[in-house]
Formats: sequence, C-alpha cells, structure tokens
Amino acid sequence: MFRDRGVEIKTPDQIALMRKAGLVVSEALSLLRSAVRPGVTTKELDRLAEEHIRASGATPNFLGYHGFPATICTSVNDEVVHGIPGGRVLKEGDLVSMDCGAIVEGWHGDAAITVAVGAVNDELVELMRVCEESLWRGMAAARLGGRVTDISAAIEGYVRGQGEYGIVEDYVGHGIGSAMHMAPSVPNHGRPGKGPKLVQGMALAVEPMITLGTVDTRVLDDDWTVVTADGSWSAHFEHSFTLTPAGALVLTAEDGGAAKLAELGVPCAA
Ligand code: MG
Ligand code: MG
Repeated sequence: MFRDRGVEIKTPDQIALMRKAGLVVSEALSLLRSAVRPGVTTKELDRLAEEHIRASGATPNFLGYHGFPATICTSVNDEVVHGIPGGRVLKEGDLVSMDCGAIVEGWHGDAAITVAVGAVNDELVELMRVCEESLWRGMAAARLGGRVTDISAAIEGYVRGQGEYGIVEDYVGHGIGSAMHMAPSVPNHGRPGKGPKLVQGMALAVEPMITLGTVDTRVLDDDWTVVTADGSWSAHFEHSFTLTPAGALVLTAEDGGAAKLAELGVPCAA
C-alpha cells in the first residue's frame, strides 16, 4: 500500500504556491457552502466553483481528470465520493459532499466539505461533526519524524470512540503537490507508526469518509459515483496540509488551521 520512494518533497516556494491554490479552493468551498439550499442543482454548484477558480487565475484540476466531466464532485446522501454534478435538485434534509481542487502555477490544492441542505436530523449533524473532527484529529497527530499512519490511527481512534460508524477503506487520502494524487496513501484507519516518515516539504490530503452503516462501497454505472453498498448515508471532509518546524499548515483552510489546531493544542505555522 505504501510507496516510500517517490514522495515528492516541496521547497518553501513551492509550498507557497500550494498555499495559493489551497486558498482558492477554500474560497470556492465557502461560496458553495453558502449556495447550498433546497432547489439548487448540483450543476449550478459546479458552475459557481468553476467561475471562482478561473476568476482567481487558477485552473480546476478535477475537470478532465481521467475524463471526469466537471470542476467539483457532488456526492449526495448515500453517495460517498466522486458524484458528477448534473440536474439533481437538492432538497431539504439532504447531505451534499462537495470536493474541489485547483491548480496555481502547476501546484495543486484539494479539499472537501459536507453540508446539510436546510434542516437535517440530529444523527446526520453528528455524522458530519464526527467526520470533520476526525480529519482535524488526524492532521493534529502528524509530527515531523512521525509516520503517515499516525494520522490514520488518530482518525480511526476518534471515530470509533464516537459511535457505530463505518470508516470507508476503499478510498483514502494521498500525497499532493505537482499532481493531485501522489504517493503516499493516507488510510483512514490502521495502527500508528507505519508508512513513510513525515518530513518537511511533504504535503498530504487527508480525507476521512464515514457512514452510518457499512464500510463497503460500489461504483454506479456512470463509472464515477461511489455509493455505500447498503444505502447508508455518508459524510466526507478533506484538507491538504504540510508540516514545518513551526507546526502544521493547513493549506486549504482560510486561517491555515490556526484556530482549530490551537483548540487541539497543536502548533500551527500559519
Ligand atoms: Mg478531494
Ligand atoms: Mg483528495
């Protein structure tokens, strides 16, 4: 699963470009968050994201990726990831995961949020909270000199402590930099202390996907949309981050992760 070799190490200038790409993604996702409401189509959300990315002088990285036909992935309810925006009309009580990426001068950013459409039930609010918190706990567990699965173990440990959730294993986080998907894999479960060493200049996209039921998934006939095998609903959150001697820098968070990492007692380089 792990490829120790081939982990791309970025210079500080390259990390600065990744931060620019990350901020474009962060802004696009915050626009999308405020645009989600009953009656909006996933295609309209896609257009908003594409307009913002291009107006920022950046390029969408999902568009055309292995033939993917849109700027963002929109995954609704039992759809886990990789849903294709289209004519689907969001309705009150839905959950929509929006996954967005951008390129600035050849350097990539990748992040995702799950948002409630109107009011949703408490179980779904808690599903989203647990998933997003596990993402932050994962990043907060990363230290220079540590190992990639320190992140995985922190995500799993947090989620298991919160209730009976399925942690999707078929899709995982990844290295990111001059391409969107690079070595190493960043699983959302496992024992700590394994995988490549965490070093300065490495950048990782961490993206827990958790469900109210099974961990099993299948892909729909469109060859993209991943759904839970049992129809249970899921949440997905993602950030791209890097480690410096001064602490973590969350490249796709508006504040670089400062507020949330402080809450978790972890130094932040922002
Ligand atoms: Mg993503
Ligand atoms: Mg990703």
